[in-house]
Amino acid sequence: MRCDHCANDVPDGVFCTRCGAHQGTTGELRGAKTREQNYAAHPSEHVVQPSVFTTLFPHLGRQKVHEFRWAFAVGIAGIVVLYVAGLIAAAILVAIFLVPVLYLIYLYEAQVYRDEPATVLGFTLGGGAVIGLALTLVERAVYNPFSGVGNPLRSAGVAAGTVLFLGVLIPVVQEVLKPLPALFLPKRTDFPETVDGLVFGIAAGLGFSVSESLVAFSSALTGLPAHLTPGNWIYDLATIAVFQPLLQGSATGLVAAAVWRYRRGRLAGREIGGLAMAVVAHVAFALGTLLLKDMAAAQLFVLVWQAVVVGALLIYVRYLLHHALLEEAAHMGFAETVCPNCHMHIVASGFCPNCGMALTAAPAAVKRARRPASSTPAGTV
Ligand SMILES: [Zn+2]
Ligand SMILES: [Zn+2]
Repeated sequence: MRCDHCANDVPDGVFCTRCGAHQGTTGELRGAKTREQNYAAHPSEHVVQPSVFTTLFPHLGRQKVHEFRWAFAVGIAGIVVLYVAGLIAAAILVAIFLVPVLYLIYLYEAQVYRDEPATVLGFTLGGGAVIGLALTLVERAVYNPFSGVGNPLRSAGVAAGTVLFLGVLIPVVQEVLKPLPALFLPKRTDFPETVDGLVFGIAAGLGFSVSESLVAFSSALTGLPAHLTPGNWIYDLATIAVFQPLLQGSATGLVAAAVWRYRRGRLAGREIGGLAMAVVAHVAFALGTLLLKDMAAAQLFVLVWQAVVVGALLIYVRYLLHHALLEEAAHMGFAETVCPNCHMHIVASGFCPNCGMALTAAPAAVKRARRPASSTPAGTV
């Protein structure tokens, strides 16, 4: 059949395998081409849905996403158990490493790094961690948190200079420096797709987050007695385990994805918006947390604010990735493959004709297994 949107001859299907458009909805339904109700990396979800795993772990198929959600839930439960038992230092350590370790497993699972695991891991997670360590130590030399701010139990007011330094300057500097290791990845031409850039940026952000949290809580980790009454640590633990890494990861992912788009010759409103969004969200997160704590707002409010900012950031990441996938998946040749999302045997080019998944977001093993279909011209994979 002939696609109404890209005018290519394509196999019958719900979605066009060349351009990803939703078929059979010409005219009467707006947005068939951009099909925002079918997020390209995970078509059963809408683009505007603040889901963590299908956004930051875009190569995971439906089944694997569930496994990662479970692993995350088990990790959170473990932190709660350590907290209730009064093992605060251990709970902090688990919280710091939970999301980054899951990400490491994901990179391995999806083979995002293809044949270059050491280089990619070194320049993303490792590079982010080195920059995080250096920058956080410099920040601490300039500003000592134990004079007041940063200590959740403090009650004195915060000076305006401190607010600007911690709430604005540091987030902006971090957003500039964090993506650098991912951006200077050697052999980056082997990873031309924006979805790869996004994942590398997220990995660098998570590496940064590990160092930052380790330094920030170093005195708690070394100074706290092994066992103490739980107290108010649960709020800090929620930030360290969930919101801090998600903020650092998705902001840097967004910056890296925008740069990847630029290298592909695309720098339009969506990409510039991505850069702005990363900086604005990070400032909102840091500034809001600082001011809410200064007003002695309930700790729960602080967490709600952090969740709102992270949710908005995740949605922007999906929006950018969705459109990048729609544009970039269009050039793969026809091949026989099994869709990693709906598990149908398909003859497809860029998109699964059945569920609409962008096959550029498939794990490397699935891409390698693509066999050029005999009846149609073979293309590069
Ligand atoms: Zn089409
Ligand atoms: Zn499918």
